[in-house]
Amino acid sequence: METSQFKWIDTHCHLYSKEFDGDRDEMIKRAFFSGIGKMMLPNIDLDSIQGMVDLAGKYPEHCMPMIGLHPCSVKEDFKLVLDKMEEALSSRAYIGVGETGIDLFWDTTFKKEQILAFERQIGWAKSLDLPVIIHSRDSQDLTIEVISKHQDGRLKGIFHCFSGNKEQINKINELGFKVGIGGVVTFKKAGVAEMLTHIPLKMIVLETDSPYLAPVPHRGKRNEPSFLLLVAGKIAEVLDIPLSELARITTENAEAVYGKKD
Ligand SMILES: [Zn+2]
Repeated sequence: METSQFKWIDTHCHLYSKEFDGDRDEMIKRAFFSGIGKMMLPNIDLDSIQGMVDLAGKYPEHCMPMIGLHPCSVKEDFKLVLDKMEEALSSRAYIGVGETGIDLFWDTTFKKEQILAFERQIGWAKSLDLPVIIHSRDSQDLTIEVISKHQDGRLKGIFHCFSGNKEQINKINELGFKVGIGGVVTFKKAGVAEMLTHIPLKMIVLETDSPYLAPVPHRGKRNEPSFLLLVAGKIAEVLDIPLSELARITTENAEAVYGKKD
């Protein structure tokens, strides 16, 4: 297991996922041992709320929950689902809205509904002064367009699992948003490592998206926050900066989005 003398934040991990049911506390211990002091938990649907909130209750200084409806979970009943999430929003504190956004890779049946659900969640982020955590797949330009339409200076957030082009990086930068870089940066041919040099350092936050998208050499297996160091190592190597510098800047960037909560 890798250790680190630096402090890191995993800005996006689904630690309530059933993949961790057998060893959740040990997995979180490994994260602490690796210097990952904070793990931000994006929500997916109504069913995932309870497990997420329970975990955040057990590790209040370390696991921070968000509320949101994942675009792949948007179906006919999305309005009702969002109504229920609004109720949940008033019952405890959440550090962000997400993950939300638009996914046209798997299914375009509910494209219109995905946009409506995304816009309503953007409204929550504005009224509660919370960051919005964006999932965008095969929809980068459309997602940027929706955010542009609603950006009145009050919106901030992260384009999670970012893989876009230079033009999109510039637009996201102009919108004042950050980009989440995770395990995909270690995949050969994914193009994310090549793109890194075009992303201003102040835009980069780190994430694992655990249990998904494990970095090399764990690719294809279960991911967990302690693997964030493999992502960080790759980024530091590509950008040719010391790990200490990367830890400092990405932690600062994550705190700029989520607020500094110690
Ligand atoms: Zn996710």
